[in-house]
Amino acid sequence: MEKLKVNEAACISCGACVGMYPDLFGFVNNDTAEVIVDNIPEDRKEDAINAIEGCPTGAIGYEEEKVA
Ligand code: SF4
Repeated sequence: MEKLKVNEAACISCGACVGMYPDLFGFVNNDTAEVIVDNIPEDRKEDAINAIEGCPTGAIGYEEEKVA
């Protein structure tokens, strides 16, 4: 399973992802954006790709979920 993540170190808090998809991204704990859903539903994968491509610093990407 792949999880969408925001690299906090790379996020410049521009708000693009949150503005485009406020149900997928949010400013929750601090000034950097976070993914606010556990997994991106199949029908939102295209939106996730749009967000990845729309992030000016490339801070959004998929990360392999670590299996304990
Ligand atoms: S689009 Fe990228 S830089 Fe802008 S708030 Fe989202 S993650 Fe941060």
